[in-house]
Amino acid sequence: MHKPIDVRSDTVTRPSIAMKTAMLEAELGDDVYEDDPTVNLLQARAAELTGKEAALFVPSGTMSNAIALRCHTTPGNEVLLDGEAHSMLYEVGLPAVIAQVLTRQFHSDQGVPDVEEIEQAIHLETLHNPGTRLLILENTHNRAGGTVIPLEVMQHLYKLCQTHGLSLHLDGARIFNAAVATNIPVSEYAKCTDTLTFCLSKGLGCPVGSLLCGSASWINRARRVRKMLGGGMRQVGMLAAAGLYALEHNVDRLADDHRRAAHIAQSMEGLKSTVPDTFHPPTNMVYINTTEPASNVSQQLAQRGILCNPTGSHRLRIVTHLDVDDTDTTHIISVLREID
Ligand SMILES: *Cc1c(COP(=O)(O)O)cnc(C)c1O
Repeated sequence: MHKPIDVRSDTVTRPSIAMKTAMLEAELGDDVYEDDPTVNLLQARAAELTGKEAALFVPSGTMSNAIALRCHTTPGNEVLLDGEAHSMLYEVGLPAVIAQVLTRQFHSDQGVPDVEEIEQAIHLETLHNPGTRLLILENTHNRAGGTVIPLEVMQHLYKLCQTHGLSLHLDGARIFNAAVATNIPVSEYAKCTDTLTFCLSKGLGCPVGSLLCGSASWINRARRVRKMLGGGMRQVGMLAAAGLYALEHNVDRLADDHRRAAHIAQSMEGLKSTVPDTFHPPTNMVYINTTEPASNVSQQLAQRGILCNPTGSHRLRIVTHLDVDDTDTTHIISVLREID
């Protein structure tokens, strides 16, 4: 019997012994007073990697996006958002509740927005119109299959935002996956943004945490909003140490996750359940279209020790991550073939 394999998400990873050791050895202080040396190091490292002036350690990607929305808009503004974006679907309505903005949803093709459609959606503020203030992009795009928005598209969109006086916030929960998959540094993607957030708790393998990055003055405003939302934390150098460890050791290895996801996708060829071309994973996700209801298939997988998430009536998601090795990958493939 193979050990259980959890491929519901890349959030399920557990900190390694080496990461826990780094956490135990962290120097600590009170981060609300900005004197936790390990948090300060992590924030400096995040600013350096993204090429931004400053960064802020935040408990979650959701809170990062909430802070970004609050700091880029005033109530009643309009925000352009992919209809399939995490911020649209999975953040419990926070644009409406926390930022009191209108969301205008756009379509994307495999996660890639259409520059012309975005341009046409921008409304100037008038006596009648709310005024479009912010464009939010998601890279990699989770629901589109972990797809990458190409750098050129981001460059076009950023130019458009600058022309029309919009800010651009990147939900880069998995921007390190995009960077590794394309061999383009995160800082190049970050150049096409005013602010961005990335998650430590996804493929990078930390127990918790996100970094919100932007200009120094913007991050000072963001710190107040973090406090308001209850995200001011104290001796969190322990968690920041995990982040520093991950940025040092867990970035390049994302290529292994991508290779394993591609292997799973390729091995589905000829089966009744399919991985459509469009979802051939450039990163760490495999979306499978099932002939039977996805909940039945996921149950069959669970009975054989493989946990994954149905994401639609006939759609399943498998996410590779640092606790899934080549043996696990081979096992996943043989079980998928067995139950097909
Ligand atoms: C996970 C995720 C978030 C939110 O992160 P949490 O830390 O779970 O709040 C935001 N955006 C995307 C694309 C994500 O995958």
